[in-house]
Formats: sequence, structure tokens, C-alpha cells
Amino acid sequence: MNEAELQHCMSAAFSQKLPVTFKAAGTSLSGQTISDSILLLANEGWENYEVLDDGKKVRLQPGIIGGRVNRILAPYGRKFGPDPASINAAMVGGIIINNASGMNCGTHENAYKTIEDARIIFADGTLLDTADEKSRADFRLRKPGFIEKIEEIRDRVRADEPFAARIKKKYSIKNTTGFSINAFVDYDDPFQIIINLLIGSEGALAFVAEVTMRSVIKLDCKASSMVYFPDIVTACKAVVALKQGPVDSAELLDRLSFEGG
Ligand SMILES: Cc1cc2nc3c(=O)[nH]c(=O)nc-3n(C[C@H](O)[C@H](O)[C@H](O)COP(=O)(O)OP(=O)(O)OC[C@H]3O[C@@H](n4cnc5c(N)ncnc54)[C@H](O)[C@@H]3O)c2cc1C
Repeated sequence: MNEAELQHCMSAAFSQKLPVTFKAAGTSLSGQTISDSILLLANEGWENYEVLDDGKKVRLQPGIIGGRVNRILAPYGRKFGPDPASINAAMVGGIIINNASGMNCGTHENAYKTIEDARIIFADGTLLDTADEKSRADFRLRKPGFIEKIEEIRDRVRADEPFAARIKKKYSIKNTTGFSINAFVDYDDPFQIIINLLIGSEGALAFVAEVTMRSVIKLDCKASSMVYFPDIVTACKAVVALKQGPVDSAELLDRLSFEGG
């Protein structure tokens, strides 16, 4: 199914009030791709890509496996930001829409932080390409009120200072569950808010037909070490200290994980 066909399917389902679910590789662990209605697959045939800006960015269709994105970017010394353990099976659409992330990307190199633009198909079939000024202008005309509503929510969230501060604090901690409502606090541009709200939306907001992602540096030389601490508190203090240096990840293992419970 190509983009135009998918758009047509979505608008037909919308007019019949039929729910639609999307599926990329189907590796989600909470039944996100199970449907008793219409299941739209965006995997095979959704694998086009374009490397931009000498590998600093990459435009991707949703059916490309994450590991392949890394192979595409490797010659440029770059890699895909999100790094779920399922990277060799999970696809771009599913990784982004689940905000999937692994050991290293944390909250600084995840999909939320590295997405730049998206080609989005809304439930009624309306297409928005945020990279295209004309598409943004058409969207404002076709969907009067939509952008204003986003701006209104943004302003309401920010006007409630304790709420805005709580969102900032909560979302500074790694969290892959729920909508990225931090977009209302982090971004001014309503289109950027829409793009970032997609991250973690689990297919509930729109279909993503294409994304432009900023890539991250792939270090060729890496090292790891295992360090023993007398207690958890000292170990946690060391993690905080390590955060200042060039350490990508720290995994804390307690005695039980060695000895078995
Ligand atoms: C062995 C294993 C290890 C895993 N490790 C991790 C991990 O380290 N970190 C982690 O976060 N997760 C992990 N997962 C969970 C899962 O792999 C990830 O969430 C993955 O990103 C899902 O990708 P997918 O291509 O399988 O997407 P799917 O499961 O097909 O879909 C994921 C969600 O995205 C929606 N969707 C898919 N494509 C689109 C689209 N084009 N537009 C809009 N919505 C779309 C679907 O409706 C669904 O809600 C793991 C799973 C397994 C089985």
C-alpha cells in the first residue's frame, strides 16, 4: 500500500467511524499492534530513505529496520539516536511512535530529541508535511482551529507554572510511557509541538509516513568496565559523578543479580 492508498483507507475508515491500528515490525510488548478492526501495515514497501547533510540527518520511511538505519549512517561516522535492544527487528515507525530507547540514548539522544520533521497523515486522511512550508500553510487553511488549539493548550500549560515545572522535571527522567506532553513546554512552534507529540503516541494520534531525524555521533573506540562498590548509595553517587564525563551509560547490578534470587 502506498501513501495515497493509505490516506484513502484512513479517510474511508474515518467516515465509517471504524478504528484503525498501525503495525511496523510488531515487536511491541503491550499489544499495541493488536486490532479487532482495521490493521494497516507499514513495513514492506515503506523502506525509502535519503541521507542528508553528510549523514547529520536522514529522511526515513517507517518500514526500515533500525539496525539498517545504523548501517546506512555508519560510513558517515553517525548512527540513529534511539537504541532499543530490539533494533535489529523493530522499524523506524514503531521505534519513533513507541519512543523506544535502550541503554545509551537516555533522554538526550532519543526520538523526542532527534526528530526534526515528519510527514503525517491524520485520522481523516489529511496530510501534513512539516518540512514543507506550503503543506504547513495548506494545513492551517484546511484545519482551521487545529493549530490555534495547540497554541491554546501550550499557553494554558505554561501559564500554570507549577504544572509546567512538574512536566519538565518528570520528563527529564527517562520515560517511554504516555504522550510527550513536554512538547507543550519545550517548544513554541505549534508544528514542532505536533511533531514531538507523535513520539510515544503509540499510533493514537496519526500515521507517520516519513520522518527526518538528526543522527548522532558513532564513536569508533569504546570501552567498558565493571566497578565494585560497598553499597548502593556509594554506587549511585558514582553514577552522578560519571555523568559529568564522557560516559554513555551506567548499569547498576546489585548482589542478587549475581547470586540469583
Ligand atoms: C526482544 C525485545 C527487546 C526490546 N527491547 C526494547 C528496548 O530496549 N527498549 C524499548 O523501548 N522497547 C523495546 N522493545 C519493545 C519494541 O521492540 C519497541 O517498542 C519497538 O520500537 C517497536 O517497534 P516495531 O517496529 O516492532 O513497532 P510495532 O510494534 O509494529 O508498533 C509500535 C507502535 O507504533 C505504532 N506504529 C507503527 N508504525 C507506525 C506508523 N508508521 N505511524 C504511526 N504509528 C505507527 C503501532 O500502532 C504501535 O502502537 C523490545 C521488544 C522485544 C521483543
